[in-house]
Amino acid sequence: MTATTTQIEPGVHRVADGLVNWYLIEDGDGLTLVDAGWPRSWPNVKQAIEGLGRSTRDVAAIVLTHGHPDHLGAAEKARQETGANVYAHRPEIPRTEGKAKGASPFTLVPGLLPTLWRPSATGFVLHATARGFMTPKWLTQAVPFDAGDTLDVPGRPRVVATPGHTQGHVSLVLDEKGVVFTGDAFATLDVLTRETGPRLLPDALNDDPAATRESLGALEGLDAGTLLPGHGQPYRGAPSGAVARAREVSGS
Ligand SMILES: [Zn+2]
Ligand SMILES: [Zn+2]
Repeated sequence: MTATTTQIEPGVHRVADGLVNWYLIEDGDGLTLVDAGWPRSWPNVKQAIEGLGRSTRDVAAIVLTHGHPDHLGAAEKARQETGANVYAHRPEIPRTEGKAKGASPFTLVPGLLPTLWRPSATGFVLHATARGFMTPKWLTQAVPFDAGDTLDVPGRPRVVATPGHTQGHVSLVLDEKGVVFTGDAFATLDVLTRETGPRLLPDALNDDPAATRESLGALEGLDAGTLLPGHGQPYRGAPSGAVARAREVSGS
C-alpha cells in the first residue's frame, strides 16, 4: 500500500496514505511528523522520509492532532525506530494509550452501522481495517502539551484547541508559513460518502457533534492561507471562507 507525497510549501509535505493524510515539516536538519497515519503505515512513513532525501534519524518529533487509530497510527513504531518523542495534548493522552473511555475503535461501530448501506462507507471500513484500524498500536510514552503552547520542535507548531471530534483534539498552526494542520476538526473529504469540499466529518465519527461545530470558531479567525486536513485535499484560502462553507454543508 503506497502513499503519495506532495510539497505544499517549501518545508511542508502532505502524505496521502489511502484516505488519510499526515504531514512532514522540514526545518533545518530536523523533521516533525504531524500525525502518523494508520497502524500499519510505518513502511509508508519511512518511504516518505527517504523520498525527501532524509533519514529516519532526522525525525526530531512526532506531534499528534488526536488519538484516533488513523492518526495515532504508526506513532509508537516511529518513536521506537527514530528515538523521537511523541507529543500529544494532555487531555488526549489517555486515548493515545488506549486507556480512555471511547479509545477502542469498536466504540465507533454503533454510529457507523446505519451508514453501511452505502458502498462508500463499507469501502471505508474495509480500507481502514486492512490498514490496522481495529488493532491500534497504543503509545507507551508521550510528552504532554497544552493549548496555546508553541512546541520547541522543527517548524515550531502552535497548539489551538479544537475539541469535539475527540475531547482533546487540537489543530497545529505554523504562523510564519500561514499553514494550519486541522486534523479532523475540519475536512475536505467525507470518508463515508466520498463527497469533497470544506465540511466537518460526519457526526457518526464525532464524539461531541455540537462541540465539533463550535470548534470551527477557533479556526475561523486564524491568519493563514492554507488548511491541511486529515482527510481530503488542502484548502487554499482564508480559514474564514473554509469555515463558512463547512458550516453551510454541515448544517451549523
Ligand atoms: Zn479522527
Ligand atoms: Zn481521521
